[in-house]
Amino acid sequence: MKSANSILSGYGTTVFEVMSRLAMEHQSINLGQGFPDEDGPEDVRELAAKTVIEGPNQYPPMMGVPELRQELARHAKRFYDMDVDWQTEIMVTSGATEALADCLFGLIEPGDEVVLIEPLYDSYLPIVRRAGAIPKLVRVTPPSWELDLEALEEAFSEKTKLILLNNPMNPAAKVFSRNELEGIAALLEKYDAYAVCDEVYEHLVFDQEQHISLLTLPGMRERCLKIGSAGKTFSLTGWKVGYITAAPELLAPVAKTHQFLTFTTPPNLQKAVAFGLGKGDDYFDALAQDLQAKRDFFARGLKDIGFEVMHCAGTYFITADFRPLNLGDIDDVEACRIMTLEAGVTPISVSAFYASDAPRHYVRFCFCKQDHILEEALQRLARFVAKRR
Ligand code: PMP
Ligand code: GLN
Repeated sequence: MKSANSILSGYGTTVFEVMSRLAMEHQSINLGQGFPDEDGPEDVRELAAKTVIEGPNQYPPMMGVPELRQELARHAKRFYDMDVDWQTEIMVTSGATEALADCLFGLIEPGDEVVLIEPLYDSYLPIVRRAGAIPKLVRVTPPSWELDLEALEEAFSEKTKLILLNNPMNPAAKVFSRNELEGIAALLEKYDAYAVCDEVYEHLVFDQEQHISLLTLPGMRERCLKIGSAGKTFSLTGWKVGYITAAPELLAPVAKTHQFLTFTTPPNLQKAVAFGLGKGDDYFDALAQDLQAKRDFFARGLKDIGFEVMHCAGTYFITADFRPLNLGDIDDVEACRIMTLEAGVTPISVSAFYASDAPRHYVRFCFCKQDHILEEALQRLARFVAKRR
């Protein structure tokens, strides 16, 4: 048998799938893969269901249904004060995952360099490599996760095609400051590069902190592609409805990938997301406030148990150092396995978010769960730690 593509076959099954399966096998509380355990707004789901029955159910336009693109243009004005042309600057995709692949396959030429910031989301490197680019990695490190702009510049060169920026950032739960974003913008101009901005957690930012989209900085409209996800904004992660906002010259090559990859996205889900995006500020405020309360409760609980808990400014995730628990000489992968089997709580090993030389003492907990589940998880972890002492 001839061999399959060596880049993709070199990767195992993603850590999210592996840990969700392990959690299920052991009836463990799954705080690994990032998904809420309560579905998003009922009226949004009802509209999706009604549209399946009443139609349309045939191929929608390749760029997305007009209602959704128009609603996304209004969203850009409302949240970022940006004037966006819904016909030439917005495209709907089957999830942010497809949007990322569209951008990377559409823009990268083999041999280009791509700058990425570790810890990074697990689909980035395989796609960057499959597109033929050379990854240039920079790190942010806890507890501050601050971006060292000098180190970042060292990763740039004349060959840099783009930076892939996740803001708010999974799993660091970091929200980039204006100063950091200005530093990135200056490098994009200096090296004539683009930015693919993965902003799926744009509405999940806490403590009145403001999410700033790189696209809104001076000169960045022509250099940035902004990716969003209805999965996160409406707590419906299985829907896989994503969207890209970019200047027409940047969106055009990306649409070429989309037309050959998925071409389109289920029309009922697009119509329902359009309706959801029209919700009032109370919806968007409550989404962040509810999550913030869960973050506070869960972070406090983890601290009381003895974890060293990193600050979480946004996203669904808290990173915690388990060394103070004295679990013995084990790495993060083993810690996640033991917590699943012995505590009945499943986190994700943070080393999965690094290409190499990963720190081995952090685990990531997903806290977008019902309060009684978070409480039960904390009790289980407390009992587990007490038993091992
Ligand atoms: N980017 C990041 C940083 C993520 O955490 C996720 C996880 N869902 C995605 C992209 C993928 O989003 P979607 O489910 O819309 O494909
Ligand atoms: N984004 C989710 C996370 O970080 C996982 C998505 C997936 O399972 N592919 O947990």
